[in-house]
Amino acid sequence: MTDISRALRERLAAEAVIAGPPVVRDTIAADGTRKWLMDVGTGNAIETVFIPETHRGTLCISSQAGCALECSFCATGRQGFNRNLGVAEIIGQLWWANKCLGAYDGGRGESRAVSNVVMMGMGEPLANFDNVVTAMQLMLDDDAYGLSRRRVTLSTSGMVPAMDRLRDACPVALAVSLHAPNDALRNELVPINRKYPIRELLAACTRYIEKAPRDFVTFEYVLLAGVNDSEAQARELVDTVAAVPCKVNLIPFNPFPGSGYARSAPDAVARFREVLLRAGLVATTRKTRGDDIAAACGQLAGQVADKTRRAQRRATRAVASAVDPALELAP
Ligand code: SAH
Ligand code: SF4
Repeated sequence: MTDISRALRERLAAEAVIAGPPVVRDTIAADGTRKWLMDVGTGNAIETVFIPETHRGTLCISSQAGCALECSFCATGRQGFNRNLGVAEIIGQLWWANKCLGAYDGGRGESRAVSNVVMMGMGEPLANFDNVVTAMQLMLDDDAYGLSRRRVTLSTSGMVPAMDRLRDACPVALAVSLHAPNDALRNELVPINRKYPIRELLAACTRYIEKAPRDFVTFEYVLLAGVNDSEAQARELVDTVAAVPCKVNLIPFNPFPGSGYARSAPDAVARFREVLLRAGLVATTRKTRGDDIAAACGQLAGQVADKTRRAQRRATRAVASAVDPALELAP
């Protein structure tokens, strides 16, 4: 760069590097979905997934190595939490994807491979608030990536106070992982519900919409066979979300070894969706992408050194299940 002073150039050369986390594996699925496994040090790896579509390219970015929130159906949640990613590690995933996919040549207004970002990779983005917001501000900044706020979506399991902070600091499009129509079931599937129950979560969604770039919230709902996929539960869901302008995104469960859950049958998914549609809700079914390379939602599981006591608890459970195999099915 010759348009900055020599002194600054020397200082940058001495103090700064331009690099994302090193890529240790690069996998391409049959449908073109591409997954990079990146080393973030001390035995931890994260994953970034690029999903090409006809008119857009979506990058699914990780925010933490592991996740502390233990949603019962999520591979990342099963691994435990190691640490928050830094700003460079988060924005570095976007920098890498554009560079690797070859559409970025540094010019303004050039087409880039990544047109949309979803903060839906490993981790709970709102649990790493400051770094995620700083990274997203770079995504939105015209002097950086210049993405519109509608093209950056953050997905949260429902950290209510942080949703309010996000509304003030960086209101991007919001997706909320609901997964259950009532507190009893949601407490089981998404344990943070015990702290912020559905009523509080929905109130936070309504507050968020006032400043959001879209006039609705997307509720994500992973369909688990025999757990949350009945028509009665669909009807209950209609009543639960009635007061919030929303779209519902139904996600077929993506299995991983030892999950203890099964994907709902296609006709169960169709029936569930039909109930929502008949009640006037907008409901889409997410097409599963990249599942042959374990790049689909909830399958992301780089190696993470679990620093919580969970690993120990799971080991104890594994021993117990060796005695009583039925225990292994407990989510
Ligand atoms: N922590 C955030 C964002 C990452 S998870 C959150 O929970 O919203 C992104 C989405 O994938 C969430 O809706 C999550 O519930 C869903 N998900 C997790 N495990 C899944 C699985 N095994 N199959 C399908 N979707 C899953
Ligand atoms: Fe964490 Fe989201 Fe997985 Fe829950 S679903 S364990 S919040 S990454």
